Amino acid sequence: MVEPTSGAQGLPRTGGPDAGAGAAGDVDGGGDVDRVVGAGAASDLDGGGDVGSSLGVGTRAGVARSGFVSVVGRPNVGKSTLVNRLVGTKVSITSPRPNTTRRSVRGVLHAGDAQAVFVDTPGLHRPRTALGQRLNDHVAEALDDLDVVLAVVDATASVGPGDRMVLARALAASVSGTAGEGGADDLGGAPVGSSAGRSVLVVVNKIDAARPEQVLERLEEAEAEVRSTLGPDHEVELFPVSAVSGAGIDALVAATVDRLPPGPAYFPEEMVSDVPEAFWVAELVREQLLHATHQELPHAIACRVVEWEWPRIRVEIVVERASQKAIVIGRGGLVLKQVGTAARQQLPAGTHLELHVVVDKHWQQRPDAIERLGY
Ligand code: GDP
Ligand code: MG
Repeated sequence: MVEPTSGAQGLPRTGGPDAGAGAAGDVDGGGDVDRVVGAGAASDLDGGGDVGSSLGVGTRAGVARSGFVSVVGRPNVGKSTLVNRLVGTKVSITSPRPNTTRRSVRGVLHAGDAQAVFVDTPGLHRPRTALGQRLNDHVAEALDDLDVVLAVVDATASVGPGDRMVLARALAASVSGTAGEGGADDLGGAPVGSSAGRSVLVVVNKIDAARPEQVLERLEEAEAEVRSTLGPDHEVELFPVSAVSGAGIDALVAATVDRLPPGPAYFPEEMVSDVPEAFWVAELVREQLLHATHQELPHAIACRVVEWEWPRIRVEIVVERASQKAIVIGRGGLVLKQVGTAARQQLPAGTHLELHVVVDKHWQQRPDAIERLGY
């Protein structure tokens, strides 16, 4: 199994200042350049020979099957790591902190005559801020328009109320075609896997970090959960995997691709993600900050690109208090320096990353601020 490579290696550089014009100061403006990277990595996961050979570059037809695959689960179960692994390229940042993912990220797997668009979502959780509510809204949207659901649980932690909520919603979506608030209660008598044709695959992740008996227990819990929602005789498809080691991923990819309906290519072959370039650079910086800081700080941090004059990219780091600013900068600027170096290593050679920190109290509570940050 090949390690996911950094998608950033393929950031288009030809746009130069033009790319900057769209990107500067407005990460989700219409003029943004989509991140377009080589699809070569996808073939490593496919196993099949002629990946994408039937796809003309830039055309939207030419594959036999395609569809959207939502990846849902409570925070920290490894959804983003899994999507990176499935796509074969880093398209979504990951960290040990909950709520790392702040918007839905689409990662595209080009697999022979099929195209699977994986939708990485923020973890479904009980929201305490406007940002938290927004994250849950992203999940509901992702469950609204899809063909397959991967419901992810963590092999190292027992199936709890958070997992149950996620499974119930995913299963409800699989039956009714919508992620209704009523969850399991709304199921009615609708036939499973009918018109909507949605399949739910239950993924037990992190098997590399769990004991075999733990994995077994988790598989049983998940199965019981599905049966209690869909009925005792319902077929349950369980996939024990490790997003980190790659174990079990081939089987999951095969099962997912198998369930895609006939359809066109939604993305051109060279595109593996729908994340705008400026947003991606800001995310790489935030990812490093998440690894460098602790306690409540990760939640308080937001990043956005405010200037883009290739090779100079200026990223603003937003925190909520002056004390947090001091932590992010570090003694003698050391933390900021390390963060900049680690982020830059994932960008094309020659990139000048300028980081500066600003305090914006309560940005997490203000919908306008959240919007501006692109979450
Ligand atoms: P998300 O919040 O569900 O998107 O979770 P992330 O993908 O950000 O991962 C959360 C944490 O779990 C990170 O520290 C990952 O490195 C770790 N993780 C994810 N998948 C695995 C796995 O298969 N095995 C192990 N040991 N850790 C994993
Ligand atoms: Mg995530």
